[in-house]
Amino acid sequence: MTETLTIHTLPTTDSRLATQDFDHLEFGKVFSDHMFVVDYRDGEWQDAQILPYGDLSVSPANSALHYGQAIFEGMKAYHQADGGVALFRPLDNWARLNASAERMCMPTIPEELFMQGLRELIKLDAGWVPTFAGSSLYIRPFMFATDGFIGVRPSEAYRFVIFTCPVGLYYNKPLRVRFEQKYVRSAEGGAGYAKNAGNYGAAMYPTKLAQQEGYNQLIWTDASEHRYVEESGTMNAIFVVDGRVITPALSTSILDGITRRSVLELAHDMGLTVEERKVSSREIIEALKAGKLEEAFGVGTAATIAPIAVIGYEGQDYEVPATRPDGFSKRVSAALDAIRSGEGADVHNWMVAV
Ligand code: PMP
Repeated sequence: MTETLTIHTLPTTDSRLATQDFDHLEFGKVFSDHMFVVDYRDGEWQDAQILPYGDLSVSPANSALHYGQAIFEGMKAYHQADGGVALFRPLDNWARLNASAERMCMPTIPEELFMQGLRELIKLDAGWVPTFAGSSLYIRPFMFATDGFIGVRPSEAYRFVIFTCPVGLYYNKPLRVRFEQKYVRSAEGGAGYAKNAGNYGAAMYPTKLAQQEGYNQLIWTDASEHRYVEESGTMNAIFVVDGRVITPALSTSILDGITRRSVLELAHDMGLTVEERKVSSREIIEALKAGKLEEAFGVGTAATIAPIAVIGYEGQDYEVPATRPDGFSKRVSAALDAIRSGEGADVHNWMVAV
């Protein structure tokens, strides 16, 4: 990186803000006015720019398009009760982006470049941060290879970009899911812990098959035996059995979700027993049959908490009892909302002002 961090800003002369309908925001379809762009070449990050949001021009030979040298993050900023804007655990996303970068032979991003880029971009587009309850500014940092070279080897040049999308309340209709018994998202030793583009492209086909059977998404199981729970679609999976909070332990095949981490920390704060370990699909179904499965839900940045209503297992559908109003997922969801909006005490210092 150049010695002092310079961000050249070219503000738009044609803001789209006034024409947006913030009451009907569809997730991921509305983009704020600006994007942050910085190139990596000759072994260092170059001067950064903030530009009007728009198309990028790339070599058709770049190895992101051919070999998947592309990684991303998903994070959010929230309007604060005192009128400001704050990011939720941005350094966790920065660290995970760099873990993905290492796995994909891409350069890591200095903390200052990531944080200053985010801050200046969001300050410039502060008017795009929605203010109604449950809304947020979804942030998509991503990096991809830019060499014009078709050989299979790590690119020498990259581009790192951040754009943002105002998003409304996620519709939390309880999910119908089924344990996947044939396809795998990722294997131990693979790249499942990284947010590289290929993991997501390869998950679409098995997910489509499950959707054709009437499920919303699937619960991935381990690659060798299809016995142990991995994740729920693009969320981590959490179960409450007999008052205990149970979730698969992290491994190289599971994404280390920041919502998962936060939910487990809040569970500890509430004095609950938390078990991070291997969780078999059979164990969950047995607990359900015995009336001991109190809750099943997915956790992730987009939905926060997505309750699971039906689980398909070996050709049969099982109903998970409806979450009680005082159930863990409701309490933890409310606690997270309070921290994110600035209304609740942020005892873990998760919020970072922009
Ligand atoms: N698993 C996968 C595969 C994901 O893509 C995501 C979304 N980033 C998650 C879990 C949840 O992670 P987070 O809570 O950091 O959004």
